[in-house]
Amino acid sequence: MKRTKVKNQKIRIKKGDTVLVLSGKNKDKKAKVLSVSTDTGKIVVEGVNVVKKHQKPTRNFQGGIIEKPLPLFASKVMLVCPRCSEPTRIGIKLSGDKRVRVCKKCEEIVDKV
Ligand SMILES: [Zn+2]
Repeated sequence: MKRTKVKNQKIRIKKGDTVLVLSGKNKDKKAKVLSVSTDTGKIVVEGVNVVKKHQKPTRNFQGGIIEKPLPLFASKVMLVCPRCSEPTRIGIKLSGDKRVRVCKKCEEIVDKV
């Protein structure tokens, strides 16, 4: 299988968005985006791709197992439109001199302008 390059790919997902996970063990889960890295093309989604890590005790932490979400490729999720609640592709539209994201299904502007 050929791997598609993620370099220079524009991530249209933003922090705070709700996304639907398309693959992996959290498939079909809807969750909030915690952070986006445009350099790697990866995003961190709340409760998705979580790994358990054994943490040694420190001065402020008594030690034990902590759960940490690992970044996943932005292409593995789909934005859930806040208007129609459907997973959708994102289009870009000009609103005045601003580029805004629009839902391809209901054509509503996703971003708060
Ligand atoms: Zn919509």
